Amino acid sequence: MSFQRVAIIGLGLLGGSTGLAVAEHLPGIATAGYDADPETRRRAGERGLVGTVCDSAADAVRDADLVIFCVPVGAMSAAAAEIAGALKPGAVVSDVGSSKESVAKALAEALPGAAIIPAHPVAGTENSGPDAGFASLFRNRWCIVTPPEGAEPEHVTAVSDFWTALGANVEVMTPQHHDLVLAVTSHLPHLIAYTIVGTASDLEGVTQSEVIKYSAGGFRDFTRIAASDPTMWRDVFLSNKDAVLEMLQRFTEDLTALQRAIRVGDGQQLFDHFTRTRAIRRSIIEQGQDDARPDFGRSDHNGG
Ligand code: NAP
Repeated sequence: MSFQRVAIIGLGLLGGSTGLAVAEHLPGIATAGYDADPETRRRAGERGLVGTVCDSAADAVRDADLVIFCVPVGAMSAAAAEIAGALKPGAVVSDVGSSKESVAKALAEALPGAAIIPAHPVAGTENSGPDAGFASLFRNRWCIVTPPEGAEPEHVTAVSDFWTALGANVEVMTPQHHDLVLAVTSHLPHLIAYTIVGTASDLEGVTQSEVIKYSAGGFRDFTRIAASDPTMWRDVFLSNKDAVLEMLQRFTEDLTALQRAIRVGDGQQLFDHFTRTRAIRRSIIEQGQDDARPDFGRSDHNGG
């Protein structure tokens, strides 16, 4: 099974990048798209994010054999309800949401009987909207496909092949495992960044201008993450609540251990811990998942 017509619902960073990547890597595939925001639809047309920008989600999906929802996780249910009844028989429905168990449930409830194969390209930047997308976003990034139990292997292969063609490395896992892994690698770091940047900006005795002026001391890198889209991240935390709370508990315990090491002057514990974490950073660079350059290769658009 291979796809001939792909519909993209939501034409922001992920939807726009998907449309552009299809045009570059799979030029034989026709793309149609829809976004709830008329201004985004206008910009999508100007930038050519998809071949045809439609005025309704139903129009966009009517001929599609693959539909990909690229809307915030909390909007998946409403977006899917808009296409119920318009979906072509046999079409595969997927998404790019950052949490998987709740999205799979929302799509299955809104589209009973449809072939639903959720996925999450672990690729992004702190930018959002129709001007943020670019064709190489998925290159050498992982895309995690999370089929429900009993999914047709043919559909799983077709969705996996689609993302491979756009440059991604594909891994298949359960939605539950995805949510646990991403809670620690993505969701918790965002929560920490949002907290630190908030704490610094609320400090008495340290001015906002000092925070900005001396930001190169580590704070700056947190501000990039903390500039991520508020709607998207609100939805991620609400939809992956259990796994995030579990990881937050573990993190709090580890933080308390380091706090204690500082208080009692246990330099060896601090040194050993920092040596272990430095090795993880090296592995990430060795595996091509980040860039050792001081700007993290941001000039090449390789954001996370
Ligand atoms: P984005 O740039 O804000 O784009 C989302 C678009 O969907 C917006 O234009 C939004 O319009 C539109 N939308 C909202 N509800 C809709 C509906 N019912 N029907 C049609 N369009 C609707 O967000 P994004 O960064 O592309 O994120 C999209 C999805 O990708 C999210 O589920 C996110 O978790 C996932 N993801 C994001 C990243 C990342 O780094 N950003 C990485 C991997 C996966 P309005 O602005 O008017 O609401």
